[in-house]
Amino acid sequence: MVVLEARDRVGGRGHTIMAAPDIAFDLGCGWLHSAEKNSFVTIAEQLNFEIDKTRPPWREQSHDAGFPPKERSDFIEAIDEFYDRAEEAAKSGRDSTASAWLDPGNRWNPMIDAISTYVNGCELDRVSILDMDAYEDTGINWRVRRGYGALMAAYGAPCPLALNCEVRLIDHSGKRVRIETSQGTLTANQVIVTVPTNLIVDQAIRFHPTLPAKVAAARGLPLGLADKVMLALDQPEALPKDGNLRGATMRTAMGAFHLRPFGQACIEGYFGGRFAQQLEDAGDGAMAAQAIDEIAALLGSDFRRKLKPLAASRWAHDPFARGSYSHALPGHAGARAVLAAPVDGRLFFAGEATSPNFFSTAHGARDSGERAAGEVMGSLGKK
Ligand SMILES: Cc1cc2nc3c(=O)[nH]c(=O)nc-3n(C[C@H](O)[C@H](O)[C@H](O)COP(=O)(O)OP(=O)(O)OC[C@H]3O[C@@H](n4cnc5c(N)ncnc54)[C@H](O)[C@@H]3O)c2cc1C
Repeated sequence: MVVLEARDRVGGRGHTIMAAPDIAFDLGCGWLHSAEKNSFVTIAEQLNFEIDKTRPPWREQSHDAGFPPKERSDFIEAIDEFYDRAEEAAKSGRDSTASAWLDPGNRWNPMIDAISTYVNGCELDRVSILDMDAYEDTGINWRVRRGYGALMAAYGAPCPLALNCEVRLIDHSGKRVRIETSQGTLTANQVIVTVPTNLIVDQAIRFHPTLPAKVAAARGLPLGLADKVMLALDQPEALPKDGNLRGATMRTAMGAFHLRPFGQACIEGYFGGRFAQQLEDAGDGAMAAQAIDEIAALLGSDFRRKLKPLAASRWAHDPFARGSYSHALPGHAGARAVLAAPVDGRLFFAGEATSPNFFSTAHGARDSGERAAGEVMGSLGKK
């Protein structure tokens, strides 16, 4: 068995960097979502990675800045009612576009859409309600103190790995599967494909014979976009540890800011959907500048000199990700099962987009790998 990995590291969309000597920054996944059902929790315990169980501050607004408690409770009522309507509609088994379940004219609709850009990586007009309903959110979210990406790298380290090995063609026309890579050709009896859906759609990995059903399924499950920016914070005591700010209230194009995560002297910004794409396209520094503008507008202009950009992600421009996490387009909730199905007892498919209930997450990706490995063993007659 060998893992062929195009990058020079393990972890893919899980990637922890040290943004400063004392600031661990997860450029990709950061939260152990649905923590009681998250297989990475036990792995973290086994590998001695400390888990932080502080509740996420997502529904708070530190210092009530620009978003007083009465407005917040109105907003929370509006978003909860939206999700209830969509959930009720999903019971019919008929798919529809999530944005159709917004209350027409409700003043909170742009902000509900902003939350969708963080959760789904896209606005609600691109989200299937059946898919949204299939996601299993237990409401418990924990974090890995040293970084989720660092945990993944430690977990993956014992695997036999070929790094800097980009797979270009999987030829399954012959008796053995031929795999053409940037480092040469190899053959195998079975292959598990785990690349993000956007790479399958773009045919960054080609199959011979072609697999039109897989390409169509992947097209129905595009990766949305979410990006993070890390800002160093001078005089951190002025802000609460693990606080939260929404950059604005009445629009969709805005950031969400985690103040002093783990008490570190920094602020982590999160942007999603079309706005994240615009900021990525605007080039280096645009996301940090936007984050600083929004924070200064809420907390005062002296924050401009207290904040210093450290690092930012650019997942849409990452050639081996081409986005952040998958969502099903309206009418395509069934595509996850199609993408996950083995072909011919020789090609198997894993990755977050194939997870029926934990898609878009790191543990969903991990569990799907275990499912695919079980299918391979099953095909070999070993259980
Ligand atoms: C900003 C952001 C925030 C997130 N937040 C969270 C969170 O809080 N919690 C959570 O659970 N999830 C979160 N996620 C999602 C989570 O990171 C992903 O769902 C998960 O890591 C995907 O794993 P995967 O194995 O399916 O895909 P990937 O991690 O993308 O792995 C696929 C691998 O295939 C490699 N590859 C691509 N092309 C080739 C090729 N041609 N040849 C060889 N190798 C190739 C890639 O380099 C990569 O290593 C976040 C993601 C982002 C981007």
